[in-house]
Amino acid sequence: MKYCPKCSAALVHKRIDGRERLCCSDTACGYVFWNNPVPVVAIVAETADGIVLAHPKLAPAGIFSVITGFLESGETPEHAAIRELKEELGLDAEAVAFIGVYAFEKANQVVMAYHIKTSGDIKLNEELDEYRVVAHEQLYRWTETGKFEVGEWLKRLNVFE
Ligand SMILES: [Zn+2]
Repeated sequence: MKYCPKCSAALVHKRIDGRERLCCSDTACGYVFWNNPVPVVAIVAETADGIVLAHPKLAPAGIFSVITGFLESGETPEHAAIRELKEELGLDAEAVAFIGVYAFEKANQVVMAYHIKTSGDIKLNEELDEYRVVAHEQLYRWTETGKFEVGEWLKRLNVFE
């Protein structure tokens, strides 16, 4: 980002609250790009056979992870998780449990993770092209998920012991 979205003047670096920020060069405008993290929901979707990990079309080959998605305005995180589950995997939510909140600094996101017991048949949407259903006891060896919420949830199942 090079120009102010409010007044189109050039953006400059300024130190505010102890951090470098991109700010409008026109002090009368006063725009500051705070770059606050974006909230995201992550879903550990459980079927009768195990946890569903999916491969997004745009991701590198062989990378599978839990489903994630952005919230719509006016939507609770739990409803977003249930909606994403239906949209991306075609599954219905039968029981929903909150896992935790995680800072995903690399992507500038805050991840709110849910464990959802599901029903129905998996039907991938157009963003996904492949999936695996992994049993709990296999999942902890599945390093490619790269997802902290899976690790946290598995810890509670005590599969590491
Ligand atoms: Zn401006």
